[in-house]
Amino acid sequence: MDNTSKKQNINDPLESRDSMEANIPKRNVFFYLLCAMIAFGLFIGLIFPFFAEYLLGTHKALSAQFKFLCLAAGLLVGLVNYLLFHLVISRELDRIIKGMYKISTNIQKALQQQLHPDNPCELEVTSSDRLGEVILAFNSMGHTIDERQRRERQLREAMNTLSDSVDLTFVGQVIITHIPAPPPWQHALLYALVEDEYQCIAMKNVSSDSVIKTLHADDLDFLETIAPDHFKTMETGKTCFTALEIIASGTSHSPSHITIAPLTGDETIIGFIITACHEFVPLSSDNQLRCRTYCDYVQPYLRSTLLHYKIQKLACVDELSQALNRRAGMHRLHEEYSAALRHKFSFSVILFDIDFFKKINDAYGHQTGDRVISELCQRMQTNLRDEDILFRYGGEEFVVILPHIDLTGAALCAERTRYFIRDKPFRIDQNELQVRISLGVVSWPRGQEEDIKPDDLLNLADKALYRAKQQGRDQVAVHTGTRILSFTEYLNSLEPLPTKRS
Ligand code: GH3
Ligand code: MG
Ligand code: MG
Repeated sequence: MDNTSKKQNINDPLESRDSMEANIPKRNVFFYLLCAMIAFGLFIGLIFPFFAEYLLGTHKALSAQFKFLCLAAGLLVGLVNYLLFHLVISRELDRIIKGMYKISTNIQKALQQQLHPDNPCELEVTSSDRLGEVILAFNSMGHTIDERQRRERQLREAMNTLSDSVDLTFVGQVIITHIPAPPPWQHALLYALVEDEYQCIAMKNVSSDSVIKTLHADDLDFLETIAPDHFKTMETGKTCFTALEIIASGTSHSPSHITIAPLTGDETIIGFIITACHEFVPLSSDNQLRCRTYCDYVQPYLRSTLLHYKIQKLACVDELSQALNRRAGMHRLHEEYSAALRHKFSFSVILFDIDFFKKINDAYGHQTGDRVISELCQRMQTNLRDEDILFRYGGEEFVVILPHIDLTGAALCAERTRYFIRDKPFRIDQNELQVRISLGVVSWPRGQEEDIKPDDLLNLADKALYRAKQQGRDQVAVHTGTRILSFTEYLNSLEPLPTKRS
């Protein structure tokens, strides 16, 4: 059969029926039934005269005429029985056959177009006998196929969405949203192996405050107890794994049970999904299989996303300071500039440089100098808001971008940062180092946006920094756009807040 005729079969139930008929075996049950009914009729016709002779005591019952009549009657009853059977059963069977072919065609069409069948995969059950049972069995098969198609479609949709992005948070959220765990297993967390630690990258029906964000790979001994292609259900409070109990407590308010499904790639566990429930309902083997299949499908997506994240990080992050490198930082500055221009908000830039850093290098060596840079950036990150952007401009010079912050806010932030660094000495090996920084502050002013470009902003900040260095270091200088002022001068230049009386 060529391809075109195959296609026609799918669209026309009767054609697909014709093609099936070619495979029908020679054995014909209805013909056997006809033979059996006629044979039984003839048999009754044959023995009936002897009964009649015995019961009525008349020899006429054994006459050839009566015997012939009985045989004819037996034959007739057999034939009529068969006709009646045909009339009643065949009609019903025809309805069932037609219905079955129609449903089969619907399913095939839906499979071809990757859609859900338009009509329900179900025939009406009209009798409570074996025929009814045949329909019930068929309906059950239809439901199984329908359900399978539905699941495949859901899986395909999730995979399509996953293939659209390599953003770790997005991919994590898609994975956790589509996990096929039935109620009451609706609380879920996804941990992924990011830089040798398992980080919670997505959650479902879980409050983010209670979640343990990062877990060290060494704490996760429970993962070794699960075969890579399985998952495990455990009762909380009895798991013997501290880390697991901590994770469990974060999944929901007092979960009774949790399941862990590892996600693997290159023979390492690149992540795991934890689902939790309050009232334990065991997952059926079908659901377990579904969840496992789902994990098998999403594994490669998570793996490639983690790889992408790693490459991205290598390209954007400065290895020593762990802050963004200059290229990535400048890119963010341009992005911030465009956003501020579009939405008409201000933002500020602080450029800072370590004072007399050469002396630190000379006195303690370059390695110590490196560690000063690294610790300085760690401290800066704790001092800044999540939305602030820190990047290494070069050497021991760094830039902080402060979105939505005006010049006064940035000046205050710079002064606070200066104290934050100077107040606590840097302890490196046995040495206690007094590190000081000088900072230049500038703000992107609303209203004059056309005149000032991101590079101009950095030039102004650099000028302010130069002034801070010139004026004795360990201080903040503010570039107002027209003048460069020290922090105190800048505060004094601000208009005093109106008093109650005025
Ligand atoms: P100033 O107060 O004027 O800034 O004095 P300074 O000594 O800090 O001078 P400057 O900023 O011009 O010099 C920076 C020095 O920092 C020069 C260079 O040897 C050193 N440096 C730059 N990058 C690194 C680095 O990655 N590691 C180490 N250890 N030193 C660096
Ligand atoms: Mg310096
Ligand atoms: Mg410098």
